[in-house]
Amino acid sequence: MANVETIFQGEHEQVVFFTDPVSGLKSIVAIHNTQLGPALGGCRMWNYESPQQALEDVLRLSKGMTYKAAVAGLNLGGGKAVILADPKKEKSEALFRSFGSFIDCLGGRYITAEDVGTDVNDMEYIFTETDHVVGVAETHGGSGDPSPWTAKGVLEGLRACVEHRMGKSELKGLRVAVQGAGHVGSYLVELFCENGMKVFVCDIDRKRCEALAERYPGKVSIVSTDEIYEVDVDVFCPSALGAVLNEKTIPKLKCAIVAGSANNQLATDECGDELFKRNILYAPDYAINAGGLMNVSIELGGYDERRANRMIRNIYYCIKAILQHSSQEKLPEYRCADRVAEKRIKEISRLKGRYKGENKPTFHGRVVRR
Ligand code: NAD
Repeated sequence: MANVETIFQGEHEQVVFFTDPVSGLKSIVAIHNTQLGPALGGCRMWNYESPQQALEDVLRLSKGMTYKAAVAGLNLGGGKAVILADPKKEKSEALFRSFGSFIDCLGGRYITAEDVGTDVNDMEYIFTETDHVVGVAETHGGSGDPSPWTAKGVLEGLRACVEHRMGKSELKGLRVAVQGAGHVGSYLVELFCENGMKVFVCDIDRKRCEALAERYPGKVSIVSTDEIYEVDVDVFCPSALGAVLNEKTIPKLKCAIVAGSANNQLATDECGDELFKRNILYAPDYAINAGGLMNVSIELGGYDERRANRMIRNIYYCIKAILQHSSQEKLPEYRCADRVAEKRIKEISRLKGRYKGENKPTFHGRVVRR
């Protein structure tokens, strides 16, 4: 359990609590590591059962962002924020502007963005108070919703997985089970259908699945949230919750590949070992779902969609390298991804200490630490 003592013994650089009784804001920002650059990570708004649970979540998520940025080849560190409130009932201009003004106090060490429970409209309020926010609306020079980019990145990563496991680059005719038809899941279903795949989809909100089945008749079948693990498919694509690859679900899987957008898919590291033992290829979550992060990161230097497309293509190469490493070293894929991240942080962070002249403001007026 995280407490002051464990935080002092741990790896996080900074953990900050913000409260504002007037707006009702209760927030925690965790900056895990800034060796590669400012910590970037979304702001999650969630009705946590306790402040302790929120603290555990923000510590875990911010560490994940360090690894995600590192394998994605970004000059960014890892951080995350949580707002302890119900996103369905407690959103207000005052709350997000108050959060934005606190983020501004961190002087750019932490840059926020959307996450579960927050959206582009909330980012607009935050943007009123600070420049240290990305994922703002296109009208403000931002890149908008990151979800379609996350989905594009997953598709690139899946191509690498299929090539590695099946020796072909063609996705046509493959069967995929998509868990979750939310923002990313819906875009994934669209991309999979466009690529000639047969899609099975589930969501606790069945209406979302029905909308997709209606849009792609004959290509999308709806299954229950229990059945999704057992469908006879080539690919299982988790795009809803974390910890869905666990002791109970892994024995049910009939797929050859797990490749999806959800964060923290493995309940424990041992579950990653178990998938490897069963010869089920696992595309490490933070490597394959980095498309959204890549896209918002481009805002820092002035958003350019062509740069985003080019960067997202790198997910194919990144996953390919991890899979090759895994085959050569006979190591589970998640461990290879960690190695890639840690190696890059070690090798690149030391270059940051070299004097290269003053940082120059970009044409958007933002200073980027390169
Ligand atoms: P979302 O909230 O829009 O969608 C999640 C969907 O999952 C919802 O439709 C929800 O009803 C459904 N769901 C919840 N519990 C379920 C269950 N037990 N079985 C089936 N469906 C269930 O979220 P999103 O933005 O689409 O993100 C999906 C996942 O991808 C999350 O884990 C998120 O952390 C991760 N992710 C998202 C992005 C992004 O750009 N949005 C980037 C990286 C990672």
